[in-house]
Amino acid sequence: MRARKATTPSIEQSRWVAPATFMLAGWLGACSLTLSLASGVELTAALALAGLLGAALALVLCALHLALGGLDRRSSFYVLVALFAVASLPVCATPLGVWLKLRGPHATLAALALLGSMAVGGAIGALIHWSYQGDSADRVELRRWRQRLALAAVLLVAAIGLGAYETTQGWLRGYPVARHALFGIAWLCATTAALALAPLLPTKARYGASWAAVGAVALSALRVASVGPGVWTTLVRVAHVEHWVTLGRSLTDVDRDGFSSLLGGGDCAPLDAAVSPSAREVPGNGVDDNCRFGDAPPLPEPAPTGSMGVPGPPPSNVVLVTVDALRADRTTPYGCEHDTTPNLAALAAQAVRYTNAYTSGGWTCLAVTSLFSGVYPRRLRWQPVALTAPTQRLLDLPWEGQLSRDESIATVLTLPAQPPSWWLPLALQRRGYRTIAVTTDEVSPMFRRSFARGWDRFMLSRGPDDEQTIDLALSELRREKSPFFLWVHLFDPHEPQTEHPGVPTFGTSMLGRYDHEVASTDRQLGRLIQALEGTPSLALIITADHGESLDRGSQLHGLDLLEDSIHIPLLVRAPGWKSGVNTSPASLVDLGPTILALTGTPIPVGLDGRDLKALSGDDGVITDLLRIDPRGQVWLDLVAATNRSARVVRDNLKQSDAVFRTGDLARPPAELSSTPAPAELLAALERHAESSVAAASSSVAGESPRGRP
Ligand SMILES: [Zn+2]
Repeated sequence: MRARKATTPSIEQSRWVAPATFMLAGWLGACSLTLSLASGVELTAALALAGLLGAALALVLCALHLALGGLDRRSSFYVLVALFAVASLPVCATPLGVWLKLRGPHATLAALALLGSMAVGGAIGALIHWSYQGDSADRVELRRWRQRLALAAVLLVAAIGLGAYETTQGWLRGYPVARHALFGIAWLCATTAALALAPLLPTKARYGASWAAVGAVALSALRVASVGPGVWTTLVRVAHVEHWVTLGRSLTDVDRDGFSSLLGGGDCAPLDAAVSPSAREVPGNGVDDNCRFGDAPPLPEPAPTGSMGVPGPPPSNVVLVTVDALRADRTTPYGCEHDTTPNLAALAAQAVRYTNAYTSGGWTCLAVTSLFSGVYPRRLRWQPVALTAPTQRLLDLPWEGQLSRDESIATVLTLPAQPPSWWLPLALQRRGYRTIAVTTDEVSPMFRRSFARGWDRFMLSRGPDDEQTIDLALSELRREKSPFFLWVHLFDPHEPQTEHPGVPTFGTSMLGRYDHEVASTDRQLGRLIQALEGTPSLALIITADHGESLDRGSQLHGLDLLEDSIHIPLLVRAPGWKSGVNTSPASLVDLGPTILALTGTPIPVGLDGRDLKALSGDDGVITDLLRIDPRGQVWLDLVAATNRSARVVRDNLKQSDAVFRTGDLARPPAELSSTPAPAELLAALERHAESSVAAASSSVAGESPRGRP
């Protein structure tokens, strides 16, 4: 620390080892902190900011280092220990959500985590101080060894911290480059630590260790280069820090429930196997079974389909069209600057247009299930199911051993663990309706498995375009005479972006190409609407399963609950309904009760939605978003409550709330951090009880940041 007369190269080296260590620690700390605070901010900007903060922090640390040089040995020891202990707090505590948990039901664990991170920080400070002991030239060698030890300790802690950070931050999965970078840095830290210690070994072993380290870095680079599935992926993953984090969690999982209380494992009861993030929350039992937000309040269950009576003749035929990933503001009736949907605009003039309609589930699996089950997704149990490529098979856990040689896991879907007790098509069948579903082959595995219940005919069109789907729907319509319920699910606006000859184009930007796809769907909707002219007593409902975000370089959904991702168009033209505009918050989950009312079917108690015809007021509507990773763990758990003016998005994993202005399409949005969350929305979130997600403990290679459908 105190630079001696620079007479030998080794003493020269000792001058820069400490500042370099400080700079590295500062940069890593700033990176970690910035990334954890910067969700919603563009990644490059976040990294640039991290670099700047890191440089500034390193300067401060170096200045402190020089200042300490003037202190006597004992004082400098205490200052260094205190400095590192305090500096370890934000670095260790922020990614694990410790600050927030200090106020929650797990305050003791959180306080222990804080004390633990301070102890580790203090130990590193002491180690660094110790490494600079020794005054005379004959002890230079000894000092070098201590410095190597200190450097190795700092790097190892940084590596473990980064690995834990990556595996606990679900939102990072939307940024694969950032994940690779974090893993790369973590692995580099671990390898450098090993190299720093290598001279401790005998000469021969030293060479072996060095080559092993070089090999590990090469493997790491291969992972960053995003090698394909199969043996390479397995080999590359073996070299990675995540396994050490997983191993650490496995070793500290005392009650063997699959979750550790340490390293971001999330188990709030280390000694109780019945309580863990994968446990099912039993509402009202006084126990926070799933370690999130305490015990859930009790909720009524929907009555089973069979308990309903069957009254007189059905009044309306119903056609329900859901367009996958159709964002409200890109349609003409919702104010798109391009005339993308003239047919929807014409329909809107005769229909009720719900200006504040939101999906109840942030991506297809959740949204369509919620629509037909009549409850918000969190009321159901969910499980991870792998969709394979190129074979398009669905696999349940454990996936290992089920994959053939040239098969890989394309994405992990979140699907209901068991069929919901109430199901709209079943209720309509029982009511005497013919039920027909028509969609494209593109989504067939998931749709067949989860949504194909209760249909007299479940039809899949051959081909990816809506034109084929509408062809099939029209041919089905010609066959049906009796009261019918037709559900058509269209797909053109969903990625990938393709060209449709003869359809208006709106430029080559991502948004322009998306608008082109929307226009293509509208053209097909026009054919359907025209064919339905003259159908007696017909209710026509056109909506979307969720929105789409388009300004992050690719089309995305199912990763957040911001305006563009969840605001959907909703048009209802029905007998006896007065056309116009309704600004009350409406939800996809309202379609169940609405269709029941339109068909004169009794509405069972316990459904979450309301009949849209009678919709008024400004009650917040709920949107759930759950995602499960290939290891069966929940990596994204969001819930939003939206009314006319504001939205509160609650992150159940981070245990934090964020407030946004409804209708704000800016990305990143203007988060109203200074505005307190509206009490009525917080109350809506509280009422919306949690149910848990079924999880399994198997692990499997391959993952995807978002679902294809
Ligand atoms: Zn979808």
